[in-house]
Amino acid sequence: MPERVADERAVIGELVGSRAAAWDVAGELPLDVLRKLGSQGLLCAQVPTTYGGPGLSSRDNGELTAHAGSLCSSLRSVMTSQGIVAWTIQRFGDRSQRRTFLAELTSGKLTAVGFSEPGAGSDLAAMQTRIRPDGDGFVVDGEKKWVTGTRYADFVLIVGRHGDGEGAAAAIVPVDTPGVHIELLPHPMGCRAAGHANIRLDNVRLPASHVLGGGGQPLSMLFTTALSYGRMSIAWGCVGILRACLDAASTHVRHRRQGDVALADHQFVRGHLAEMFIAEQVSLRACEHASRCWDSASPDMGVMAVLAKHVSAGHAARGAATAVQLLGSAGAEDGHVVARAFRDAKLMELIEGSNEICRLILADHALSTSGRHTTPDESEAGGRTRG
Ligand SMILES: Cc1cc2nc3c(=O)[nH]c(=O)nc-3n(C[C@H](O)[C@H](O)[C@H](O)COP(=O)(O)OP(=O)(O)OC[C@H]3O[C@@H](n4cnc5c(N)ncnc54)[C@H](O)[C@@H]3O)c2cc1C
Repeated sequence: MPERVADERAVIGELVGSRAAAWDVAGELPLDVLRKLGSQGLLCAQVPTTYGGPGLSSRDNGELTAHAGSLCSSLRSVMTSQGIVAWTIQRFGDRSQRRTFLAELTSGKLTAVGFSEPGAGSDLAAMQTRIRPDGDGFVVDGEKKWVTGTRYADFVLIVGRHGDGEGAAAAIVPVDTPGVHIELLPHPMGCRAAGHANIRLDNVRLPASHVLGGGGQPLSMLFTTALSYGRMSIAWGCVGILRACLDAASTHVRHRRQGDVALADHQFVRGHLAEMFIAEQVSLRACEHASRCWDSASPDMGVMAVLAKHVSAGHAARGAATAVQLLGSAGAEDGHVVARAFRDAKLMELIEGSNEICRLILADHALSTSGRHTTPDESEAGGRTRG
């Protein structure tokens, strides 16, 4: 079988090469690399061909995202944000907005997405940002935190409350609009080159054509839709982190000798490697299943995205820590692939639903489907087996 998305992976591989460590240390991605990937639609590769995108399935975009994640989590983070914005436009934009903005996102324009606020992290329902109709346009006021990719963005998708009501709205805000104030976050713990920033919006005036579908969507529908894409993207990115760690650790323990034998000949070391391989495979299977649900528009798509993200982020955080352990001091250099993975992977347990929030969602799902996990026939068969 031909390797999935081989051409697209090759483009990313060529542009990143072995430069990710230097980007991590410098805390910045080269804009020309982002523009080149963007202009080929590879930062939001599920955008349909009718809108100028590559039109990849979730499964194929997943492999592409894992590849980016194996090379550079900062780049993968920018891909995640671009993909979330494209998906939100696809779902909530009117025909003209889809045509205009998706064409921009697949031809080199860069974007970012702002949900989180000083008082609204895990609890996005506490959002205070307002997107108010005013004359023939809209006015945006509010504050957004930790917005990935802002450093490179031409426009930011800002999610807030619609007017004075309880509904929500998503507004496309060009970063050079008067009233937009950007403060870059200089030294994040991980994904250091992903261009995070805090954004303040003071009386930012926008034309009506910049508010998706005119606004008024239910808040939970807007952010669940957007976050589902983000969760899929992060989950696949974590598969990439695990692959990079597994490669680095296996190569190291095969060549490094201590106690007159290769590290790989110590049983404890082999045990660690086995755990990392299990982690990569389990995460991959969870992602593949979630992508199958996405591609078939299954009603389970949202919950399977949460499951895949939770499983993969946890495995990536633990797997990266194990990889550092196996490399010892060799993996402790700034910018080393496992050192980066260790810092980057930990953050994946915090975002797009922290571990705790994912578990709450999964528990709600378990409760709402209780009684549906065993059919009468299966219960009987189970009883017979045990008997
Ligand atoms: C690297 C990075 C990139 C980011 N990129 C973006 C971005 O592009 N756009 C954007 O809008 N935001 C972004 N964020 C913000 C991110 O979405 C939030 O950090 C995340 O939602 C968690 O919110 P918080 O940090 O306010 O933590 P809090 O919500 O204050 O949570 C702190 C701790 O309390 C726990 N907790 C909270 N509520 C509950 C509960 N009900 N039950 C049990 N435990 C709970 C959490 O699990 C967590 O462990 C980014 C953050 C990081 C670190």
